[in-house]
Amino acid sequence: MNRTISTETINKVGETVKLNGWVHVRRNMGKIAFLDLRDRWGILQVVCVPAELDEQSIEVLKDIRPEFVLEIEGVVQARGEKQINKDMPTGTVEILAKKINILSKAATPPFEIENEDRQAGEELRLKHRYLDLRHERMKNNMIMRSRMMQFVRNFLHGQDFVEVHTPILSKSTPEGARDYLVPSRKFPGSFFALPQAPQQYKQMLMVAGMEKYFQIAPCFRDEDARADRSPGEFYQIDMEMSFVNQDDVLSLTEKMFTKMIKELWPDKKMTHSKWPRLDWQEVMDKYGTDKPDLRKDKNDANELAFAWIVNFPLFEKQAEDRESEEHFHGSTGAWAPSHNMFTRPKEEDLELLDSDPGKVKSYQHDLVLNGVEVGGGALRIYDAKIQEKVFDLIGFDAKKKEQFKHFLTAFKYGVPPHGGIAPGFDRLLSILQSEPTIREVIAFPLTADAKDPLMESPSEVAKEQLDDLGIQIKK
Ligand code: ASP
Repeated sequence: MNRTISTETINKVGETVKLNGWVHVRRNMGKIAFLDLRDRWGILQVVCVPAELDEQSIEVLKDIRPEFVLEIEGVVQARGEKQINKDMPTGTVEILAKKINILSKAATPPFEIENEDRQAGEELRLKHRYLDLRHERMKNNMIMRSRMMQFVRNFLHGQDFVEVHTPILSKSTPEGARDYLVPSRKFPGSFFALPQAPQQYKQMLMVAGMEKYFQIAPCFRDEDARADRSPGEFYQIDMEMSFVNQDDVLSLTEKMFTKMIKELWPDKKMTHSKWPRLDWQEVMDKYGTDKPDLRKDKNDANELAFAWIVNFPLFEKQAEDRESEEHFHGSTGAWAPSHNMFTRPKEEDLELLDSDPGKVKSYQHDLVLNGVEVGGGALRIYDAKIQEKVFDLIGFDAKKKEQFKHFLTAFKYGVPPHGGIAPGFDRLLSILQSEPTIREVIAFPLTADAKDPLMESPSEVAKEQLDDLGIQIKK
């Protein structure tokens, strides 16, 4: 007999079915036991009456406790009018058990599964993430994540984008955070860096003639946690396009997310059906921040106020104290790029690059949702001379420029005008799922202080491994 999933039973009244799942709750009523059997799709009530069960199943039933994994054969019965449970997708039926088999026993979990216990501390939840993910809410986050991924892929393929995987073992990139480094065994003393973003690769893919690239790209940044940031890794919907203007990038992104939200989050409503494009200076003057929260009712969990911020200055003053500065972006000089060092200045401001760099406006665009930055991007410089000038302004000496030699070399071979954006996949999803942190929408995130209590990483490694790499640990 093939397995029937919980939600399929509503169309099988009178049929004998085989079910698999976990015991969600067990209730005893005298000789009769009720088991709520849970699978990924739902919860189903199973009635266990000794007179209906074989000898072995009667014995087995005595042992059964929550979270045991079972195989049950039984008959689907319609519930009486009064027993119908409208809150359960399977609430019109129940299963009269005939045979029960324990596939796996389970120890008592360290926190309750059955009542969506949100009280357990994050450390404990992450230590037993495989149990935490059994919670309905967490399971839904994972399912919506998967559906969002599928939507984005389909949408962008539908727009003739090519999905390209760029290297994970990569080179240190100047996106503003510290790198995660990977020592090389073949070249002792040399390191790969995990990409903070595939920025240079995607620009070189434009030089390659790919024209429309995307990737749901893992990004690695060694930074301190905040609610909308996770230390370690996160994903961006990384996009780059050639021969486009800023409106092309903004309109495509807006169209994609508008359609996605309509399809996957139909209960959400947008404050503005056409997202406002706001001037950075005006926004700063009016709200004192470049991430304004434009919701009409901030208590409405379903309201989504998207806005574009444009006309950013190309540079901001570099902070004295690098440690405290979020917008370091690779600068070693007086000016730091507001977005990144590849952002194209506005043509009409090119002259100011020499005389008054602080006044130069750029083609940066930020996407803001309910007061949170959910994406950023820009049209890029495609003229090697301007790129070098920006390198000079952010204080790159010859040695630092040498690190971008490959990039400037690529620029010699015919660069199309290009631009793109990289909305944060987890960050957007966490807002759409009304979750307080992005860790809630990541299957196995690091804790806020950057460790994994489940696998207990980071961890020490064997001395032989370090010897291979020519590494000695400083005491
Ligand atoms: N690479 C940029 C970032 O990670 C996004 C972009 O400019 O497309 O912020």
